[in-house]
Amino acid sequence: MKATNGFCGAIGNTPLIRLDSLSDTTGCEILGKAEFLNPGGSVKDRAALGMVEDAERRGLLKPGGTIVEGTAGNTGIGLTLVGNAKGYRTIIVIPNDQSPEKLELLRAIGAEVRPVPPAPYKEPHNYNKIAARIADEMENAFWANQFDNTANAQIHYATTGPEIWEQTDGKISAFVAAVGTGGTLAGVSRFLKDQSESVATYCADPYGAAMWSWFKYGHFDFDDGDSVAEGIGQGRVTENVESARVDDAFRVSDRQMMATLNILLKDEGLLLGPSAGVNVCGALKVALAGGPGQTIVTILCDGAQRYSSRLFNQEWLAENDLSPENLSLEELLIHLKDDQNEPSEK
Ligand code: PMP
Repeated sequence: MKATNGFCGAIGNTPLIRLDSLSDTTGCEILGKAEFLNPGGSVKDRAALGMVEDAERRGLLKPGGTIVEGTAGNTGIGLTLVGNAKGYRTIIVIPNDQSPEKLELLRAIGAEVRPVPPAPYKEPHNYNKIAARIADEMENAFWANQFDNTANAQIHYATTGPEIWEQTDGKISAFVAAVGTGGTLAGVSRFLKDQSESVATYCADPYGAAMWSWFKYGHFDFDDGDSVAEGIGQGRVTENVESARVDDAFRVSDRQMMATLNILLKDEGLLLGPSAGVNVCGALKVALAGGPGQTIVTILCDGAQRYSSRLFNQEWLAENDLSPENLSLEELLIHLKDDQNEPSEK
């Protein structure tokens, strides 16, 4: 029998997709890890399973228990489905500016959803702090704490990294990913560096986040601008980011991200969400910086359906100055070559 062991057994072992037009045009192998094909629809299924099984091993989550988490959506979806499969209840605290599809989906799959106004991390009403308090006040409840729970990066070290290494026959020369919690970038970069120090590792960062500033300059001074990309954009060194091994970083604007998403759809047949657009645009920047001959891997985090009320809505796109320009890949590459990513002074 080749059946998987339930929902949890179907997480991971995702295909590595050669992005044909991007590879042929740049002279690099540009490869996307198809995390949108996880059974819960995103890269966060791995983190959800990793954190739940770690909590079970450490006796923090017992039969009939409740998983509580502050999440921008995908971790909540992963935790709820893993919880359903393993017999746990789930409470999800989510900023109320996230896409309505994600809130509806969370409710539909059985999570108790508590939307809260967005608040910075340092505020007591930040969604993570609220989740921590709810778990603290309940019997047999576990706060997953995805940002600072290193079981998150660990599952990527144990699964995503080795899968990429095997799927490229150890020929990977560069890895690039954006940071939400930092679990993916930390776990994969550490695993790849442990196999070969010569694998270059990069962070692709949206504007309004501070990871580009942190990895490039070691400070948080350059966090200007803003981004509509959900699930990424970090302003502090989380416990997961702490263990990342990153050589350099690129910033990706929302217009560059949208142009990349359009090309992925039109040229590759892949209908992907914003963070995948940031990641693939980051891979194009790595291709331009290092030139032809590289084997570059990035993460296709989730699909566009999760954002349809925004990405497929001309009014919303216009309001956010993101109306499609329909750039060809060649035009996008010329634009990216001219974009020097210089820090803008505060
Ligand atoms: N893309 C999406 C759509 C996400 O939900 C997340 C997780 N917040 C990420 C990327 C970033 O992954 P990580 O938390 O491992 O940094």
